[in-house]
Formats: sequence, structure tokens, C-alpha cells
Amino acid sequence: MASLKQQALDLLEETLAPTPKVFLIGTLVVLLLPVLLHFLIVRSSPYTSPPTILLAGPSSAGKTALLTRLERGDVPAQTHTSQRAHTVELTSPSSSASRASLALALRDTESKHTKFLVVDIPGHGKLRSDALSRFSPAALADAKARGVVFVVDAAALSDQDYLAAAGGYLYDVLLALQRRTAGIKTSKIPGAIPVLVAANKGDLFTALPAALVKSTLEAEISRVRASRSKGLLDSGVGGEEVGGEEADAWLGAYGTEKFGFEQMKEFNVDVEVVGGNVLGEGPGVDKWWKWMADKV
Ligand code: GDP
Repeated sequence: MASLKQQALDLLEETLAPTPKVFLIGTLVVLLLPVLLHFLIVRSSPYTSPPTILLAGPSSAGKTALLTRLERGDVPAQTHTSQRAHTVELTSPSSSASRASLALALRDTESKHTKFLVVDIPGHGKLRSDALSRFSPAALADAKARGVVFVVDAAALSDQDYLAAAGGYLYDVLLALQRRTAGIKTSKIPGAIPVLVAANKGDLFTALPAALVKSTLEAEISRVRASRSKGLLDSGVGGEEVGGEEADAWLGAYGTEKFGFEQMKEFNVDVEVVGGNVLGEGPGVDKWWKWMADKV
């Protein structure tokens, strides 16, 4: 018993004695422990940013209203409990998302909860180039973009100016998405980023039905495409001989007269047009919500 006590005392004395060995071990512990702890903590709780749905479209289309509805958490209607959503947070724009508002939505399915961000991108007028920079391949990858919801006011599309603004903006967004995959070898194609054209304000009797919104936008994009590629086709240059740069700036199937959203499939971009309404009586936002939840 006494010898055990003596042994313990000896050990204590050795440990506390200021020998070089003790100093060395002490220094190593002091230096390495924080590093070790850091890696342990980082590994056990990796910070993963949630995937993003980008919300774009001409001004007054209803983006803010949709975001507010997401934030309030009343989407969709109570009928689908498995798809019930509520927004848990509305964060102030961070440095990486300046001038954009964010809603953090929670998809609530039977088996898992998935958080995702819905980022409203103001894209009218002077902010257009700023908005389009968010559709560059690097920015999309950075934001973990899983889809784009392009909101349009279906009741305003009969107005030529509004149609030109909406069509021009959608053209730019689709071209950016096309460039993301064009020319990339099949094995390296990045994850698809589909587009939902949300034909909003379906509660208004002047609103065009989804099929008409689709054909109206396609016709407008055909017009934009023809004017932007001025003379490219008229010059008599055949599709085969045209330089890569020109074909690169052409949205959809090269050389076609009419643009159709299905032409985007070749570039791994699915486009769907779905009607709905954020306010008033109508189908509401259920289908848009389901689309978003399916993509994240
Ligand atoms: P943003 O510029 O795209 O963010 O558009 P806002 O969300 O500010 O909406 C523009 C206007 O349209 C506002 O006065 C909204 O109240 C209105 N609005 C938005 N969604 C709807 C809708 O579904 N139906 C109707 N009737 N008005 C809507």
C-alpha cells in the first residue's frame, strides 16, 4: 500500500519536475490540442449550405409576394400534408447575396426535412447585368442552384413592353444556362438546372392561360433571337460553316426559325410553364411549391 503511494508520488514528482521531456510533451499538447479539437469539431458538424432555388423575372411579376408567402409559411394549401412547407427564417442579404432577399424554406416530407433557400433576384433595368452574373456557371455552382423559377405576370403579357421585358430577360437566363452545359463532354456535364416559368396572377380574368403564356413567350424569344443574331442567317452562311462563337450566342436549336422551350432539352435544361397565383382566388402556388421541393 505504502509502495503504491510512493510510486504515485514518484510519478507526480517526475511529471511536475521541469525536465526537458516534460516541457516537450507540454508544448506539444498545448500546440496540437486546439488543432485536433478544430478538426474533430469540423468533421463532426460539417457546415453545409442548403441548395438554392433562384427566383427571377421582370419587375412586378410577383416575386416578392411569392417570397413573402414562402416566408409566412402557408404554402401549399393544407391538402398535401407531406409537402407542407414553412419558412423558418428570412435572413438579411448576406455579402454573397447582396441585394437579393432570401427565404429559407423547409420541405417537410415523410422521411426527411430539406432546407433550401429561395433567392429573389431583382433583375429589372439597371440591375440586369448584376442579376445575370448570378447565372454564370461559377455563381450557380457556388449557390448550389437546383432550379430557376422565372415569374411572369400572365395578365400583363398582352402589353408589348412588358412582353419585351419578360422575353428578353428569359432569353438571357436561358442562354446563361445553355452556356453552362454547351460544349462540355457528357461525362462532365454539371447537374441539371431546370426552369419553371411561373405564370402568375391567374386570379385575374385578363391572365393568359399557361399554354398561351408558353407560346407567347416562345414567339417573343424567337423575335429576340432573330434580332440579336442580326443577319447571321440571312448572310447565307450554313449551320455547318458558322463559327463556334456565333452558334454559341444562339439560343436553342441552331438555325431554327421558331424557338421552342423543348429546344433547351439538348442543353439539359427542362422548361415548364405552370399557371398559378400568389394572391386571390385560383390554383395558388401549390404546383410551384411542389416543383421547387422536387428539385432540391
Ligand atoms: P416583384 O417586382 O416581382 O417582386 O412583384 P411584387 O411581388 O412586388 O408584386 C407586384 C404587384 O403584383 C403587387 O402589387 C402584388 O400585390 C401584385 N401581385 C403579386 N402576385 C399577385 C397575384 O397572384 N394576383 C394578383 N392579382 N396580384 C398579385
